Amino acid sequence: MKIGWIGTGVMGAAMVQNLMAAGHQLVVYNRTKRKTDNLVAQGAVWAASPAEVAQQSDVVFTMVGFPKDVEGVYFGETGIFAGLAKGKTVVDMTTSQPKLAAKIAAYATAHGMHALDAPVSGGDIGAKNATLTIMVGGDVTTYQAMLPLFNVIGHKVNHFGAAGTGQHAKMANQIMIAGTMTGLTEMLLYTKAAGLDPQKVLATLSSGGADNWSMENYVPRILKDDYTPGFFARHFLKDLRIALSEADAMGLDLVATAQAKRLYEVMVDVKGLGDQGTQGLINIY
Ligand code: NAP
Repeated sequence: MKIGWIGTGVMGAAMVQNLMAAGHQLVVYNRTKRKTDNLVAQGAVWAASPAEVAQQSDVVFTMVGFPKDVEGVYFGETGIFAGLAKGKTVVDMTTSQPKLAAKIAAYATAHGMHALDAPVSGGDIGAKNATLTIMVGGDVTTYQAMLPLFNVIGHKVNHFGAAGTGQHAKMANQIMIAGTMTGLTEMLLYTKAAGLDPQKVLATLSSGGADNWSMENYVPRILKDDYTPGFFARHFLKDLRIALSEADAMGLDLVATAQAKRLYEVMVDVKGLGDQGTQGLINIY
């Protein structure tokens, strides 16, 4: 099966590398071409647009940044749908809006193609180590056909239902992460103010009821003053905005998630720190 891949940033490049290591042939495109250089040196083939990727592929994966990027990559003049043939499959792994996933699936179905939304969790480390959690929405037969590829890049894959439900599951994930990121930040501030050894506190909390993935992965980075992404703060703010907009449409008032969104707005919009990883939240206190 010939695989096309659009978006070779922090996550996409590592996922492509794992697919190539499993013996698959990859055709790649990224807005900034140099971000594919390393992959091309390892055997991937460059294509000049999403449409050209689609023309050369049986399945096209996308891992871009924001919903507007997804919209352009699928529906633009030289987008995927301008090049994809009937019977082929698209899989959007970007964290994006459930309604956009439904729009892509509706277009694909109307044109004899197949589509899944399949956002991931597990961070840059999960992408590198092929241990991502993958949350899938869309037609179940297409899901089953793509499962062997998902299993190459992830270790926990679940199908939730119709198009958009993968994105809804990812929003549930991000609502949880809002709590772990604000929690680890304020835990560290408190630890330092109380004069405790943060390494010792981390080691202790890691084996108790406060243990969580964000703390284990991001606190060591903060303790080394390492705010490189990881997971861009501007992307997390995007996710919190999508989650709160979806919650609002369901009549839910998620006050703690709304507070996390306000804190990340200070980090990204006020302090201009959106290119830091999400662990940089501590820099606004
Ligand atoms: P990233 O490093 O910014 O990668 C996104 C890539 O997509 C960039 O290389 C970007 O190119 C490319 N791109 C954007 N628009 C494009 C377009 N129109 N055409 C072609 N390429 C385009 O971000 P990332 O960390 O890999 O995250 C990707 C997605 O996964 C985001 O939605 C994020 O929320 C989600 N996610 C991230 C993590 C994480 O820990 N990093 C975890 C789970 C989910 P340029 O270089 O030109 O900008």
